[in-house]
Amino acid sequence: MKKSKVIAQVREEGRLILTEFESKKFLKQAGIPVNETKLATTPAEAVSLSRDMGFPVVLKILSPEIVHKSDSGGVRLSLKNASEVRAAYREIIANAQKKYPSASVRGVSVQKMAKPGTEVIIGASKDPQFGPVIMFGLGGIFVEVLKDVSFRIIPLSRRDAMEMIEEIKGYPLLKGYRGKEPVDLPALTEILLKISRVMEENPEIKELELNPILTYQRGALAVDARMILEEDIRYSRSSLS
Ligand code: ADP
Ligand code: MG
Repeated sequence: MKKSKVIAQVREEGRLILTEFESKKFLKQAGIPVNETKLATTPAEAVSLSRDMGFPVVLKILSPEIVHKSDSGGVRLSLKNASEVRAAYREIIANAQKKYPSASVRGVSVQKMAKPGTEVIIGASKDPQFGPVIMFGLGGIFVEVLKDVSFRIIPLSRRDAMEMIEEIKGYPLLKGYRGKEPVDLPALTEILLKISRVMEENPEIKELELNPILTYQRGALAVDARMILEEDIRYSRSSLS
């Protein structure tokens, strides 16, 4: 894979954490399905981008220092018209300034409100013993409270990826039950394999998380993404070999 401009730019700014906007740009180039996400730096720009995309839209705080966006009142969903977008823009910026007075806020990201789907999470990180590992689970309380997740060492085979999906306790929710249609398991398998490849080909990525990925009867789409780089590129290389 050729050197990523996004990563180079982040390093140039002396940062290790990519914003959601930057993470999605990188992941899209790697062929991972992420939703269209634009940057607005004024309420008027947010309105104009929303009109182009079509309502309803989502606005989210865009700051390299704010990792958990909803915790600080930084996410507003289902905005139906221009006046809701203008108000949400101002509220999001005000909330961020209140909770993180020293954070550098770059604006707000504008994205289409995705249709409801089953939320899943894919994460990758480096284990001190095993090296790069990948995690899969259902979204929300399933991961946070019930710890219903599966792990594998990278690189994944197709069989590994399928097993990761099948072995979580919540698998029936994905496979379909009582007449509920199954989600697109091949699409999910493909994303797991691509994330595995991204970690293999980019040892300078320390951590990566798609949370959530919305899964549908047909297709799957990440609506939030987070990436953290290794501080020392040489260390990250040697830890892989
Ligand atoms: P956080 O930084 O708090 O994780 P997210 O970007 O994940 O923020 O947004 C919080 C929640 O809002 C997500 O878990 C998801 O349920 C919902 N959400 C985020 N973006 C979208 C979107 N584009 N369409 C629909 N729902 C979304
Ligand atoms: Mg999230």
